[in-house]
Amino acid sequence: MIEMIYFLATFAFIMGLRAMSAPATAVQGMRIAGVAMVVAVGATFFTPGLHNLGWMVAAIAVGGGLAWIWARRVAMTEMPQMVAIYNGLGGGAAAAIAAVELLGAQTGLPTSVGVLAILGAVIGAVAFSGSLVAWAKLDGRVRKVWRLKRGHNDVVLLLAILTLGIGLTLGVSGAPSAGGLLLFFVLALALGALVTLPIGGADMPVVISLLNAFTGLAVGFEGYVLANPMLIVAGIVVGASGTLLTLLMAKAMNRPIRNVLFAPITGEAAEHEPGSVTGRLKTYAPTDAAAALRYAQQVVIVPGYGMAVAGAQHKVWEMAQLLEEAGVTVKFAIHPVAGRMPGHMNVLLAEAGVPYEKIFDLDEINGEFPQTDVVLVIGANDVVNPAARTNPSSPIYGMPILDVDRAREVIVIKRGQGRGYSGIENELFYRDHCHLVYGNAHEVVADIIAELKTMG
Ligand code: NDP
Repeated sequence: MIEMIYFLATFAFIMGLRAMSAPATAVQGMRIAGVAMVVAVGATFFTPGLHNLGWMVAAIAVGGGLAWIWARRVAMTEMPQMVAIYNGLGGGAAAAIAAVELLGAQTGLPTSVGVLAILGAVIGAVAFSGSLVAWAKLDGRVRKVWRLKRGHNDVVLLLAILTLGIGLTLGVSGAPSAGGLLLFFVLALALGALVTLPIGGADMPVVISLLNAFTGLAVGFEGYVLANPMLIVAGIVVGASGTLLTLLMAKAMNRPIRNVLFAPITGEAAEHEPGSVTGRLKTYAPTDAAAALRYAQQVVIVPGYGMAVAGAQHKVWEMAQLLEEAGVTVKFAIHPVAGRMPGHMNVLLAEAGVPYEKIFDLDEINGEFPQTDVVLVIGANDVVNPAARTNPSSPIYGMPILDVDRAREVIVIKRGQGRGYSGIENELFYRDHCHLVYGNAHEVVADIIAELKTMG
């Protein structure tokens, strides 16, 4: 009966995941997968010979309760941090399962189980400490990228070999000592932190999805250790989708994963960059912006992290509707790494009710910019930085961007002289056809709306 329920839950996971691949059905997909998870966890309680029922209920109550409260309270702008930390906890849980199984192996684990437990433990521990570092970076607690002054990659490689070597020796031994396991876990956690600390700027999305794939893989391995088919399937599903997302993100950034991990974008090059940015900053008042938008034939709106910070998505859609009523064609362009988590802008625009057919991705929209009268950039920076195309000494050189500089006019809403996540200057803002409207995106867009209303 339990196997049958697991099978049905697996089926529901895959159907849920499928529904999540389209924005219109994503919420339904989340519900299907959530119900399947509850059913699968419930069925596990009926496993014959189960011990520690009290501990299990207490852990679920505490963990589930805290997650429930936090998820309800978290601001939309803090979602990426929450996703990072929950992902890390998944990896940590897998590593903890391995620790318990290896420590409890009084009579010796079969070699294959011991080895799988260790592999899951390494990957899970790396995902745990790596995700904590990612969380700290996304939350602005760790701003700078950090790496050892010399030989960072060599140290990481040595540490990886040492961790795996010690781990596999312990795993093969069948009944590892507590001291040995402690050393192994400390090394594995240090490895995760050392791999993630140097990664910054535009490489972060790739590493976040990679850590997500790691968590899935770790859970899958521990599923074998516990002989639990549900964990195996759930782990494989997360591992496979995380891997696909990593490949998509790496493609979007035009960065091989090897380079992300071993030659990351640090933004340091920008500090030493000779003054490649010329021109001067020119400003518009919201009334000027409203006039330019109102008398355009086609407007493309490019949202970025700043729109999320300001929570301006509803106002932005209201403004777009007013423009459309006045006969302007309005489109939205989303860069795959805009914001702070994969799909961030899609989520916000969907929340505001922007129809999906108005939303275009990079490949679809880039050819249209030369025929676009006005591009309105709302709190985006790195994803529209032409240095990625024009300046070989820029750390983001080679990353595909939205070619907004090719439009006839560009209007950028931002609060001041703040740089993008990668910390580099944006030459777009200094171009002749670019004007800045300073202010919080929510208020600026509200002012533009007020002005559009007076224009009729
Ligand atoms: P950026 O972080 O490059 O730029 C955001 C801009 O918004 C800044 O220039 C800032 O300027 C402005 N801003 C901030 N708050 C407000 C506000 N309240 N009102 C108006 N403007 C505001 O954002 P992008 O979306 O262009 O790029 C995303 C970056 O984040 C990329 O480098 C990406 O690699 C990285 N990243 C993405 C992740 C993902 O999964 N999508 C994960 C981790 C990192 P000012 O301060 O002057 O207002």
